[in-house]
Amino acid sequence: MADAQAPLVMWHTGQVTSEDRQQLLRQKPITLWLTGLSASGKSTLAFALERRLLDNGQLSFVLDGDNVRHGLNNNLGFSPQDRAENIRRIAEVAKLMNDAGLIVIAAFISPFALDRALARAIIGAEHFREVHVSTSLEVCESRDPKGMYTKARSGSLSNFTGISSPYEAPEQPHLKIDTQNVSLDAGVNQLLALINGSH
Ligand code: ADP
Repeated sequence: MADAQAPLVMWHTGQVTSEDRQQLLRQKPITLWLTGLSASGKSTLAFALERRLLDNGQLSFVLDGDNVRHGLNNNLGFSPQDRAENIRRIAEVAKLMNDAGLIVIAAFISPFALDRALARAIIGAEHFREVHVSTSLEVCESRDPKGMYTKARSGSLSNFTGISSPYEAPEQPHLKIDTQNVSLDAGVNQLLALINGSH
């Protein structure tokens, strides 16, 4: 592994600033960090929001748990160490995308408060908005769209959040959405309000 502290690694400053890009795109880049149990509704909300933002003329990009694990993070598993590295890399990507001017919608279980705090530190508190998709375990388990809760209960899937691995709920999220009680449309509206409140 290359040593990131080596003197040859230098940061180059370009001629276009983050503010220049913001003016071009006419939007303030932030990262909405959606955390919650598997099947709580993070991806569904994220992609519906991305669509709505585009229809409103705002450019966003979804970073989604499963998609990222197909590529950038395909060498990582679900141990606490690998989950931490998963979140660190995603946060670095979100930071770059914010710098590029995009609104980032990050949809990750991200069960550990410490990892989310690291993401916040990397992205920067002024750009970071934590959203707890707080749908109960009972409801998530009854949805079980990929059959993973069944597998986790039977023991054939280990380290599964909510069953065999803990979920640490955020203590002071910017927003909480329980998709059992809030329709998809209403959830998207709440997320839009959070984005617009940041301007
Ligand atoms: P996650 O990304 O958190 O694992 P998904 O979005 O993949 O969750 O799955 C959530 C499931 O819950 C989907 O099948 C979705 O259709 C369903 N669902 C039901 N009501 C809602 C709602 N109000 N908001 C979001 N998802 C909902």
